[in-house]
Amino acid sequence: MNKIIELRSDTFTMPSKQMKDYMFNAQVGDDVYGEDPSVNALEEKVARLTNKESALFATSGTQANLLAMLSHCQRGEEYICGQDSHIFKYEGGGSSVLGGIVAQPIEFEIDGTLDLNKVNKKIKPDDFHFAMTKLLCLENTHDGKVLPLSYLQEARKFTHDKNLLLHLDGARVFNAVIDLDIDIKDISACFDSMSICISKGLGAPVGSVLVGSKEFINKARRYRKMLGGGLRQSGYLAAACSYALDNNIKDLQIDHQNAKKLALELEKINQIKILSNDTNMVFIELKDTNVDLLINYLKNKGINISGTYDELRVVTHRDVTSEDIDYVIELFKEFFKNKL
Ligand SMILES: *Cc1c(COP(=O)(O)O)cnc(C)c1O
Repeated sequence: MNKIIELRSDTFTMPSKQMKDYMFNAQVGDDVYGEDPSVNALEEKVARLTNKESALFATSGTQANLLAMLSHCQRGEEYICGQDSHIFKYEGGGSSVLGGIVAQPIEFEIDGTLDLNKVNKKIKPDDFHFAMTKLLCLENTHDGKVLPLSYLQEARKFTHDKNLLLHLDGARVFNAVIDLDIDIKDISACFDSMSICISKGLGAPVGSVLVGSKEFINKARRYRKMLGGGLRQSGYLAAACSYALDNNIKDLQIDHQNAKKLALELEKINQIKILSNDTNMVFIELKDTNVDLLINYLKNKGINISGTYDELRVVTHRDVTSEDIDYVIELFKEFFKNKL
């Protein structure tokens, strides 16, 4: 078996032959002049899909989130977010470094939501001692967990009442859409802005899209240029994203089924406890196991999994088949059988 089964992240997805053909044939122009037809088509498509006024192609989810933060908040203004949220923890503190924006993180609840009562207590009164609370950021999915639509609607009403803006880090929002079997418009309607990664489970090599009002996207476009994200013939990349949105969304269901199958089978192993299994992710706790030994054992058999201490994170995606999952299950069982 020469194929590497890559379970570290859905960011490892490779563009398919059909996607590459589509990219190769894309019409392009200078997007900084607003003249790349493929970029314009992608931005119009995503604005239409999400029922927002406007959309902007960004180089990455990190850039899309940063553009949202810079466009929503001035220096000395504050956003509330999850302690382990991507925006706060995994984006180099960009909004603080570049925007002078203050973070107020709070712990996520077990279901990936932020408790709105706890959020409420962190909103600063209008007093010169404090940074001014401006924005609430949610993440959907968070560790694969899908936020219920009713919660998003509550968060919309809450932020409206409190005069806060609401941003969604929707890197994997289409996994939530598929899981809930709803229209993305139902989710986007709850937010002032939303970022979407096309380079994860949807399979494009590069690219994210930010959506919001026309005024908001105009600001974000200026910041994108400032950050070096004014790309010229980026239509080749935008075409890959359009292809992914047209063809790959429904396939996320298969990734979810594969993750479920893996979780159900691994659960039968004594040393394994499934901490969570939502959408395309499985978090595993290991007992009485040398984690490095297990990871190396799998790596030698062509399976890449990331783990720390006594935990593993497995992410399924379109380049991992149901047969690959069977092989992974078999090897896990073999490892633990031989160990006993
Ligand atoms: C991957 C991810 C992002 C963006 O990551 P990039 O690598 O910059 O595209 C943002 N938020 C979450 C929750 C993510 O998983």
